[in-house]
Amino acid sequence: MPDLYGSTSTCCKARNVIVLSKSGGYLSQNCEACGRKCDLSFEDIPNLTCPTCVVPIRPGYSKNGVFSATYVRAWNYGYCCSVCGYLVELAALVPPYAERFPDK
Ligand SMILES: [Zn+2]
Ligand SMILES: [Zn+2]
Repeated sequence: MPDLYGSTSTCCKARNVIVLSKSGGYLSQNCEACGRKCDLSFEDIPNLTCPTCVVPIRPGYSKNGVFSATYVRAWNYGYCCSVCGYLVELAALVPPYAERFPDK
């Protein structure tokens, strides 16, 4: 699957690639050039397009197939299409750190 990018890295001014963090269980964004980890805040997550409707889908939070456009504690970053109801968690769309940065 294609890389998803967050903010620009402060270390190398490169793109930060969103991955499942090294220690697992949560998302991080890591500098594409050097692998340095940076926290992934909600403001940094990319805009996505619904694969079916090809319209922008809104980011929010989700857990167990439920979506919320507003913050819910301990829920994961997710996206929901307001047209068809397609719901996906960001974590399902990104690779594990070790797979994306095998030599880091
Ligand atoms: Zn870097
Ligand atoms: Zn849709």
